[in-house]
Amino acid sequence: MTDGPMTADNALAVARDVLERAPLIDGHNDLPWVIRIDRAARGDVAAYDLTRVRERADTDIPRLRDGLVGAQFWAAFQPTSTPHPARTTLEQIDLIRRIEEAHPDVFLPARRAADYARAKAMGRIASFIAVEGGVGLENSLSPLRIWHAAGMRLMTLCHNETLDWVDSATDAPRVGGLNAFGRAIVGELNRLGVVIDLAHTSHDAMRRVLDVSEAPVALSHSNAYSLCDHPRNTPDDVLKRLKANGGLVMATFVPGFVSQPLRDWLRRSRNGYGKGPAVADPKAQMAEPETRQGAAPKASLEQVADHIVRLVETAGLDHVGVGSDYFGGASPTGLEDVSRFPYLFAELVRRGFSERDLEKMSSKNMLRVLRRVEAVGVSLRRTRAPAIGELEDYPGA
Ligand SMILES: [Zn+2]
Repeated sequence: MTDGPMTADNALAVARDVLERAPLIDGHNDLPWVIRIDRAARGDVAAYDLTRVRERADTDIPRLRDGLVGAQFWAAFQPTSTPHPARTTLEQIDLIRRIEEAHPDVFLPARRAADYARAKAMGRIASFIAVEGGVGLENSLSPLRIWHAAGMRLMTLCHNETLDWVDSATDAPRVGGLNAFGRAIVGELNRLGVVIDLAHTSHDAMRRVLDVSEAPVALSHSNAYSLCDHPRNTPDDVLKRLKANGGLVMATFVPGFVSQPLRDWLRRSRNGYGKGPAVADPKAQMAEPETRQGAAPKASLEQVADHIVRLVETAGLDHVGVGSDYFGGASPTGLEDVSRFPYLFAELVRRGFSERDLEKMSSKNMLRVLRRVEAVGVSLRRTRAPAIGELEDYPGA
């Protein structure tokens, strides 16, 4: 705990100190999709130009530097309904690799936990590839190994829709959380040394994965359900199981997952989120400034800090991190862009967290998860053959 009363400037100085020693590992950023759909750039990294501050966006190199980001998990995301999911996943992995190649002086392609320290020593940002949504598997196990070979080190099992093998938090359940084919995917990710990400899965899917995963899991962008009852957030029983599993939950900034008043407001609005199987994109809804109900309540940096305090109380200090989910849209007041991380940590200083606590949350907890997942993969690859086949090959699926 810190001593005595803390002025705003003191707290910010302490936060910057911590983040310079232990730069942030951010669990989730959707910049690759932002570059893909940008009308001018259309997926061209050079044309998008990450070297300048883009006032209307939230992520660029100058502000990643200001934000003291030491490692970024970039999402190779595709909507579940994308016409060519297998191709689109590869295109988004390729886009992340093109970000790395376009800025070799800024980003270090990171494929192991040890690359975090290597990047720090070189004054660079470790760039990790995360696939968000398993729709691109097209119900085959083979792509997992190709994605891994291309650099994937974390996989978010699904997005806003239930797949044939895993239930989504924001869709009707169809497979009791996770079916036999889903278990095969979990086993193969364990074998490959890829972090399994339970953000976006249903609460039952979280429980089923925790039953079978041989390695720690992550919830790369997810808050405390007990503070904001959006189904994307994590229930207490799952948070408590992270201790035995060794995994972590990474607090996120998506306004509708932060603020209960905003959550209630969105629920009342037409296209109410989470009411049926055909849900609208929650992020698109966040971008709507107002409807007939009047202006939406705002989420705030302080509310994100509330979630972090609650996550620590429930999961334990060794099991909490930060996964911003900057996606080029709405964000809480005070957390407008990637330069704002030190302000969040300053608020955590004011909440009484020690510098050691903050280093755990900024990076050490996720590094432990990455190292453990790597070690489990090494040992499983010695004894277990690659899982092959497709959905139909798994009885009960
Ligand atoms: Zn997401």
